[in-house]
Amino acid sequence: MPLVLASPGPAGSRPASNRPAGGRGRPPRHLADLPLAERRAVVAGLGQPPFRASQLSRHFFGRYTDRPEEMSDLPLAARDPLTQALLPRLLTPERELACDGGTTRKTLWRTFDGALVESVLMRYPERVTMCVSSQAGCGMACPFCATGQAGLTRNLSTAEIVAQVVAGARMLADGEVPGGAGRVSNVVFMGMGEPLANYASVLAAVRRLTEPVPEGMGISQRSVTVSTVGLVPAITRLAAERLSVTLAVSLHAPDDELRDTLVPVNRRWKVAEVLDAAWGYAATTGRRVSIEYALIRDINDHAWRADLLGSLLAGRLAHVNLIPLNPTPGSKWTASRPAAQREFVRRLEAHGVPVTVRDTRGREIDGACGQLAASAVARP
Ligand code: SAH
Repeated sequence: MPLVLASPGPAGSRPASNRPAGGRGRPPRHLADLPLAERRAVVAGLGQPPFRASQLSRHFFGRYTDRPEEMSDLPLAARDPLTQALLPRLLTPERELACDGGTTRKTLWRTFDGALVESVLMRYPERVTMCVSSQAGCGMACPFCATGQAGLTRNLSTAEIVAQVVAGARMLADGEVPGGAGRVSNVVFMGMGEPLANYASVLAAVRRLTEPVPEGMGISQRSVTVSTVGLVPAITRLAAERLSVTLAVSLHAPDDELRDTLVPVNRRWKVAEVLDAAWGYAATTGRRVSIEYALIRDINDHAWRADLLGSLLAGRLAHVNLIPLNPTPGSKWTASRPAAQREFVRRLEAHGVPVTVRDTRGREIDGACGQLAASAVARP
């Protein structure tokens, strides 16, 4: 049974105070948007010694707090001006749902302008993964994905993305997640949105998450995965950044005829171009590319498609992640039969392609792959 953990109202949330005057629609500036040198400049502009930027950054990235009352190393009079200038509260928790004995937790967030986004924390014995949203909604319109059905509201800012991870880190540090105090070890850009359609903010978020404290949060680049529908120029651009993050490509079909319908952006960039870009990424970074494939009964789970996929991937630096289709509202599609799934796996393995079936978490709370719809809840 899903458990509603909290439904905090707007009370207690701090209004964002430094919203840029003419910048309608832009989230307020936050230190996670800026490199450390620019945070220093903001602090200096307030007449404070620049090292206070590092202190504030340590509070946010190392202690996961933006609350002035928790910053005892800052002079009392400086706390409010500094936090207002660099640590506006960007995300207000609207609702939290948990399952798997509390180790899978989905948070619905409201942004400063009322957009809704979701993030999911998943604790496993050996790691904690935060699945974050990069956009409110999504413009890619994949018919089997709940987020894709709603359309795009807007891009998230770098700090709005990073704040989702920091919130998860705080939950863990506070011991709110069963299993004792812990840390976020992995971040996957697999929540709402198409990360590579919000390139600049996502790239800066990756940098912020992986730079050491106080610049950033100190998560290993190897533990970060960016997932894409296959925006070819952006994949090439990402490869040139020379990061060690994992690229995941949501393929879902090995042939253009079917992929044109399952992943509509395929009409622009075909399977062969997407895979070429992926192999380019693998060659430049040395990282194995993850090929995501949601198995949909009688739609894309045929034996011949497994063989075709196997022949496209054989000998490549790739690994297939099969995702049993999760139900979404209004869709008549469903997960493959167990026998079809087993045969799909067997045929990929026969081509020498490494394959895993994703243990997809959070289905009971609509928190699993493709289920994030950020449906509005009644305000208290
Ligand atoms: N837009 C990016 C990031 C989202 S990742 C991308 O598509 O890669 C979310 C993953 O879940 C994608 O691989 C997506 O195709 C997959 N997915 C979407 N709907 C799903 C569903 N109903 N069941 C299983 N997986 C789904």
